[in-house]
Amino acid sequence: MTGYVVGRFHSGGVAGLRPNEVAAILKPPRSVRPELVERRIGDCGCPEEQWLFDTLDLIIHFEPNGDVDAHLDGGDWGEADFGVKNCPDEEEGRQRVFLWALRLTEGPVT
Ligand SMILES: [Zn+2]
Repeated sequence: MTGYVVGRFHSGGVAGLRPNEVAAILKPPRSVRPELVERRIGDCGCPEEQWLFDTLDLIIHFEPNGDVDAHLDGGDWGEADFGVKNCPDEEEGRQRVFLWALRLTEGPVT
């Protein structure tokens, strides 16, 4: 299960500029390609996936009721948890977790 690219493009405030002018004022878009390390059954019997997200360990846990729990382990940097309620399917939950992790790892806005 590969092929994910999570990216966020800056937008707004660039109307009327030529593409090269836009490129000059925008930061390069950041994208991350999460890698699936393992899919397994968690202690409580739910499917669970371990991803490598931008060098960090990311665990995604899929509850049978559609709730999705995520845990990002950044080592010395710290760790964080995230939850999504009532996802229609695993794919939707996965995408929302990836976007959360992307924002979290973006660093301070300058
Ligand atoms: Zn569970």
